[in-house]
Amino acid sequence: ATFGTLSDRLTETFRNLRTKGKLTPADVDGTVREIRRALLDADVALPVVKEFTAKVRERALSDEVNKALNPAQQVVQIVNEELIAILGGQQRRLQFAKNPPTVIMLAGLQGSGKTTFAGKLAKMLESDGHTPMLVAADLQRPNAVNQLQVVAERAGAAIYAPEPGNGVGDPVKVARDGVEAARRQQYDTVIIDTAGRLGVDAELMKQAADIRRAVDPDEVLFVIDAMIGQDAVNTAKAFQEGVDFTGVVLSKLDGDARGGAALSVASITGRPIIFASTGENLDDLEPFHPDRMASRILDLGDILTLIEQAQQAFDEAEALKVAEKLATETFTLEDFLDQMQQFKKMGSMKKMLSMLPGTGQMKQQIDNFDEREIDRTEAIIRSMTPSERRNPKILNGSRRLRIARGCGMTVTDVNQLVQRFDQAAKMMKTVARGGVPNIPGMGPV
Ligand code: GDP
Repeated sequence: ATFGTLSDRLTETFRNLRTKGKLTPADVDGTVREIRRALLDADVALPVVKEFTAKVRERALSDEVNKALNPAQQVVQIVNEELIAILGGQQRRLQFAKNPPTVIMLAGLQGSGKTTFAGKLAKMLESDGHTPMLVAADLQRPNAVNQLQVVAERAGAAIYAPEPGNGVGDPVKVARDGVEAARRQQYDTVIIDTAGRLGVDAELMKQAADIRRAVDPDEVLFVIDAMIGQDAVNTAKAFQEGVDFTGVVLSKLDGDARGGAALSVASITGRPIIFASTGENLDDLEPFHPDRMASRILDLGDILTLIEQAQQAFDEAEALKVAEKLATETFTLEDFLDQMQQFKKMGSMKKMLSMLPGTGQMKQQIDNFDEREIDRTEAIIRSMTPSERRNPKILNGSRRLRIARGCGMTVTDVNQLVQRFDQAAKMMKTVARGGVPNIPGMGPV
């Protein structure tokens, strides 16, 4: 759901490209403009958007695309590759120390999901055969130590926490003692939860930097709420300057975040996203894969399949012919028949429709759609004379009766077809004028 809107917007953009053969610079510019808008609406930071679209544009206008068998598909590939690149390229795994314990320090704003992540990470590490210990160095929030204890218990992990009333006030000492305790007790990883504030402040940064200096962690993970939107960039920059971090954890990716944070933070800080946190349960944690995330953003599998199918079915000349007929309003039943056959070539209609984004409200119609309908329609049109096909207006009662007999159907069937053709012709005119984006032949569904 997270990238839903962004995915839909990009899919829509590519849908418009899919039947084109060669791409003109105007096609490329139009597409790049749409991508730019979609990214900005998804809260991706402006500098990131600019850099991204400039790269895509440059590559889309190059020979790489010109010479491609399928230029539209090539553009989608380019966008995919560039998305992977700004998401960090290769997957980056957690790094472990040669001499245990591996020390992992968490930083981030209050409420970003640090404590929850600490529990999730502990659980994941345990299932990988590690022996993690949590350290409660968040002494700022009254309930933080307690909360970490609850999380540790749920994760079945060990915890080092200051006794109530003892050590309160010195998180640096707690962190250092925690690492010492883990070393003594031979835990192989230490996860240090630190204090956050609601906003970035100097004292918070100093505390985090002090802890970092005291325990010299192998990883400093910056936890950021994916729903934070445009603020992601400033927050991430502040933490990078104040504490610096080795990797990013995107939390709350299950919510309805618009997804921009992911693209911005990795790109602006140059630090890899290592984990995606996707829910309130301790199991809701995934290693972050830039390529998978890019595919998710693009709904890539579906887009590529659509492009392939559409391009097999329509050649450009055909599309131009139809467009011209629509524009000059000389679209006939014969063309209608043609269109239906083209459409049939695209394979199962239901499958086709279910791959299109935003067809949720059409679900009912899709389910009710009977592919044999196309065959019946075809039979009726085939019983018409060429002049009737060209000019359905001459279809009076006796002609309709003759046609019905000819194809073994009823006059009502013929009447319905003529009615649907009228509707389809009207709708396609709207499409031809740049109205509702739609698929030719969708009228009779
Ligand atoms: P901290 O202040 O940084 O330690 O943040 P917490 O771990 O206490 O998380 C703040 C709130 O966000 C809590 O209500 C968590 O249950 C919730 N939360 C944390 N991670 C996620 C996540 O990945 N998805 C969702 N939906 N909620 C989360």
